[in-house]
Amino acid sequence: MTAYNVIEHEFDVVVVGAGGAGLRATLGMAEQGLKTACISKVFPTRSHTVAAQGGISAALGNITEDDWRWHMYDTVKGSDWLGDQDAIEYMCKNAAASVIELERYGVPFSRTPEGKIYQRPFGGMTTEYGEGAAAVRTCAAADRTGHTILHTLYQQSLKHKVNFFIEYFAVDLIMDDEGACRGVVAWDLDSGTMHRFRAQMVVLATGGYGRAYFSATSAHTCTGDGGGMVARAGIPLQDMEFVQFHPTGVYGAGCLITEGARGEGGILRNSEGERFMERYAPSAKDLASRDVVSRSMTMEINEGRGVGPKKDHIYLHLDHLDPDVLAQRLPGISETARIFAGVDVTKAPIPVLPTVHYNMGGIPTNIHCEVLTIAPRAKKPSVVPGLMAIGEAGCISVHGANRLGSNSLLDLVVFGRAAAIHAGKVVKPGKAHKKLAKSVTDDLALGRLDKIRNAKGASHTAAIRDEMQQSMQKYAAVFRTEETLQKGVDSIHKVEASLADLGIQDRGLIWNSDLVEALELENMIPQAKATVESAINRKESRGAHARDDLPERDDKNWMKHTLWTYHPGKAGKIQYRDVHLHTLTDEVKPVPPKARVY
Ligand SMILES: Cc1cc2nc3c(=O)[nH]c(=O)nc-3n(C[C@H](O)[C@H](O)[C@H](O)COP(=O)(O)OP(=O)(O)OC[C@H]3O[C@@H](n4cnc5c(N)ncnc54)[C@H](O)[C@@H]3O)c2cc1C
Repeated sequence: MTAYNVIEHEFDVVVVGAGGAGLRATLGMAEQGLKTACISKVFPTRSHTVAAQGGISAALGNITEDDWRWHMYDTVKGSDWLGDQDAIEYMCKNAAASVIELERYGVPFSRTPEGKIYQRPFGGMTTEYGEGAAAVRTCAAADRTGHTILHTLYQQSLKHKVNFFIEYFAVDLIMDDEGACRGVVAWDLDSGTMHRFRAQMVVLATGGYGRAYFSATSAHTCTGDGGGMVARAGIPLQDMEFVQFHPTGVYGAGCLITEGARGEGGILRNSEGERFMERYAPSAKDLASRDVVSRSMTMEINEGRGVGPKKDHIYLHLDHLDPDVLAQRLPGISETARIFAGVDVTKAPIPVLPTVHYNMGGIPTNIHCEVLTIAPRAKKPSVVPGLMAIGEAGCISVHGANRLGSNSLLDLVVFGRAAAIHAGKVVKPGKAHKKLAKSVTDDLALGRLDKIRNAKGASHTAAIRDEMQQSMQKYAAVFRTEETLQKGVDSIHKVEASLADLGIQDRGLIWNSDLVEALELENMIPQAKATVESAINRKESRGAHARDDLPERDDKNWMKHTLWTYHPGKAGKIQYRDVHLHTLTDEVKPVPPKARVY
């Protein structure tokens, strides 16, 4: 191995990721008096959170009456009873305070005529425990909510003098012999230097792995690097079979048209001009939850009622809405439709198709955001000392089998804050770091990076990645069967094996995007594998996991979280974790399972 000169850093806490989750945690850590570093492979305000359009949910009741308990009910139902109800209670109960806090930090929310925070309806959000009308619960800054939140959190972090390490790529966790996390190794993309960050607590806030698929609304940087690091460290990934398809990605381009477009009155029509959602979800119609709408659209297309020359997509109509509302409430998507579909939304419908959007699965944590693992021979999960995960990278699990729109931004800020509060209790500021054996610090991260940097095989990263993305798109789609999933498993195993033949051209260390992409591919592959293997293992349909061959939900056998552990070159090991059907306090009753209709 080439010898690398490693620059040492010592912090109380290192947060990896500067999206909404990472920045909210970083800010909170600084407020707790902890010496904190935040590492990000992209400039913080370029994190994918910047692209969030529709809004952030909270039962503020600014427009119609609302109650956090109704929000909790909707979230449990949306999760198809796979979400942990104690965590969901915590999120929904803390939602209003978190949104007001964002407002105080400076987020420029849109306003009602009286000057309150503007709210809009969103899919799956109802009142009166599902019995009442649609809730008006999603707080929005036009259709640029994520943009305003991310910029505000970044500015607040600067005010708190956080130590940012920008355009640093975290390569691997530093795990010691006791199974504890002691820090992280990162590569400064700009200077080409290597850095070892020692920390009492590492917080992974690295976002989702949407780019394991060919067509995704997420940024090209959403490669699930945190999940890759965790998988390599032998820590399981949870509920990876649940991948959300957003009903309205722009046909061809894949970029998102927010659900807020339907929240403002947009409707879907098939080739016969029919508003088909009335048939599938008679009461919620176009605002049924995302998995339901995506499946309905796919069925329309499969039955020959798709639009366009190939009859392979659906129309989203906004042209019946008031042009002033479109200009004021949906300016961003009007622009997206013009640029990516060549459509003037005031005159013509937008061609759309269900597109990969969100990963419900991720790094398992308890309600304090501490990462969980299952020790060899142990039956129950235990905490990995020194490691937390939050945001889309984590699985706490508030979204279960299907996330409701506008609940992710909420998850980021509520649990980013919760992670900091808990770290304030367990981390001792300035405590000396344990000395580590050389084998612990160097082997995994630098040895692996060095091997890839010098890889001389015949296959390019792009070719292997394309094979993976196409397989995922084809075999782990909106509808699945044993047969398609088996093809997916075989195909992803082949993709994994082909890494042995990887070759890269650039051997440098300064802005070596060739090497970055190869490292990202190595992070995505275990997660693609976890997705198909967990999906073929789950013999039922639930939330976003819709099996044509097993259409029923089976609570008796399958109301449990999947834990999948990576074994390079072999099938992963599958274990389970109980779903928490209990609440955190007696301020609310648990939501008992029932059939999920909208
Ligand atoms: C187009 C779009 C629209 C959306 N709209 C909404 C919405 O309206 N409402 C809603 O609730 N949800 C929405 N979502 C979902 C939500 O925005 C995301 O789930 C959420 O923003 C993820 O935030 P995060 O902080 O977990 O990660 P991200 O924002 O993805 O940030 C990840 C961070 O990790 C860093 N990172 C990753 N790997 C490394 C590495 N190896 N080394 C160093 N740093 C690394 C990155 O630099 C980045 O800073 C939307 C998603 C998309 C794609």
